[in-house]
Amino acid sequence: MMAGIRRENTEPELAVRSALHAMGYRFRLHVRELPGTPDVVLPKHATVLRIQGCFWHRHEGCRLAYTPKTRQEFWSAKFAENTARDNLQKDALADLGWRVVDVWECEVRGNGNLPAVLKRRLEAT
Ligand SMILES: [Zn+2]
Repeated sequence: MMAGIRRENTEPELAVRSALHAMGYRFRLHVRELPGTPDVVLPKHATVLRIQGCFWHRHEGCRLAYTPKTRQEFWSAKFAENTARDNLQKDALADLGWRVVDVWECEVRGNGNLPAVLKRRLEAT
């Protein structure tokens, strides 16, 4: 297993799951048959929902996606690795016919409108 970056059942993930559940979406969790073991899979919608941590997965333009002042080379290598892995996963899923929808940590945390965000994201084409 790689460096513990992909933790399961994180707080944003739990918030998304409970919102989806309340909205009546059916989903599967941590689907190991699919590339990268996606957190949340909505089979009926052929959609993989990734709940991405802004820092580790480099949410563009997000204040949580800062770069620490020390060990910058280490961080940029780490971030490049994560981003590359995310892109590979997305491509591999797309090749298998899955749509990949990303929801960012900053969109989830303390967001009373989470259901609206999810609905918009999931129903967009
Ligand atoms: Zn963010």
